[in-house]
Parts: sequence; structure tokens; C-alpha cells
Amino acid sequence: MKLIFLGPPGAGKGTLAVRVKELLNAPHISTGAIFRDAIAAGTPLGLKVNAIIESGKLVDDETTIALVKERLAQADAQDGYILDGFPRTIAQAEALAAFSPVDTVVNFDIPDAGVIERLSGRRVCRKCGFNWHKTFNPPKRENICDKCGGEVYTREDDKPEAIAKRLEVYREQTAPLIDFYRKKGRLIDIDASPMVDQILESFKEKFPPQKRA
Ligand code: AMP
Repeated sequence: MKLIFLGPPGAGKGTLAVRVKELLNAPHISTGAIFRDAIAAGTPLGLKVNAIIESGKLVDDETTIALVKERLAQADAQDGYILDGFPRTIAQAEALAAFSPVDTVVNFDIPDAGVIERLSGRRVCRKCGFNWHKTFNPPKRENICDKCGGEVYTREDDKPEAIAKRLEVYREQTAPLIDFYRKKGRLIDIDASPMVDQILESFKEKFPPQKRA
């Protein structure tokens, strides 16, 4: 099944995708994670996008579309995938429709206050990428990942100014995709305010096993 997880930053798309990818036997493809890996590795792509990402703005469509097209051409994405953080603009959605039409778009519905609470408390493992939260799900030892011992840090774009910018960018450039996909009859809404276990249950109700093939 080819799925898009659509929603504001901090809605829990990545956290749910990690839980759902085994159920669907599909790769979790996060454009944000691909960019962050490129930055960490110091590749030309990483150098190009570093300042943009830190500021909370979007990377240009041409670069992002080319990246996703190449990733979706790989063998593990042929039967399905979960796209997290792409598309974020109408131009990206139109490009995707041309090279890999998706089956369903899951719209993570959450008010701004919930997003701000999650993003400002989010702590990410530099090594394995696991998302912790300073209040809701802190690692046992401060700043050390329970899963891999990596350093747990606050993403530059989870700092207050960048959060405000990302929400503005979401409203202006990404939220129009809700209507875009609703009109195509592809959209399913999910209440993203509860904790991830509950969101996972709602997901399973909307995607019973026979529909997940
Ligand atoms: P995320 O981890 O999905 O919140 O993405 C982090 C940052 O990567 C975003 O704030 C953007 O700067 C960039 N980014 C990720 N996905 C896209 C996309 N589809 N289009 C443009 N920029 C993106």
C-alpha cells in the first residue's frame, strides 16, 4: 500500500510510521530524515540544505522531488511505502502523482497548541534517530538514548523561532494539500492529539488487515 502521512510538523507522523511500517511491511521514507542524514554526512546535498532546514523553511521543490523520485525507484519501495513529510507543496503532490500515484493519504489532525508542546519538548537521538520527549517519554539517563546509547539533542528547527516559521510554512504551503487529496477521494482523517498507542489503534481500525495488503 502506498501511503502519505500528511500533517503539521510535530503531529507524530514519524512516530506512528515507525510503529506501522512492520504492519504494512513497507519502508518508512522521511524526507526530513534523508536531509538530516545528508547534513550529518556532509554531502553536497547536506551542505546545500543545512541553513534552509535550520531556519524552518522548505527545501526547493526541484531538489526534493528529484530525491524522492530516486528513493521510490529503489527495490524496497515497489510494493508500497509510507511517505512522511512529502509532499509538502502542491507542486510536489502533482509530481508524485505522475511518477508514483498513492493509494491513501492519512491526514494527522492536531491543533497548533499540541504541535508546539510536542516540538518544543522533542529530543532526538543523533545516532538512531529515535524521538524522545522531555516530559512524555524521556530517556532514563539525561541526553543519552536508551535504545543505542547515542546522544539525545534538540533539533535546531525545534527551537521556538523555527517552530513558529514551520507552522506558518505548513499553513501556507502544505495545508492546501488536505483539500487537494480530499477532492480526489484519497484522504482519511486521524485524530493526532492522543498518545501514539491510541493513534495506532485508530489507524488499525481504519486499516484492518485485509485492507493493508
Ligand atoms: P521534517 O523532519 O519532516 O519536519 O523535515 C525537516 C525539514 O526538512 C523541513 O522543515 C524542511 O526544511 C525540510 N523538508 C522535509 N521534507 C520536505 C519537503 N517535502 N519539501 C521541502 N522541504 C522539506
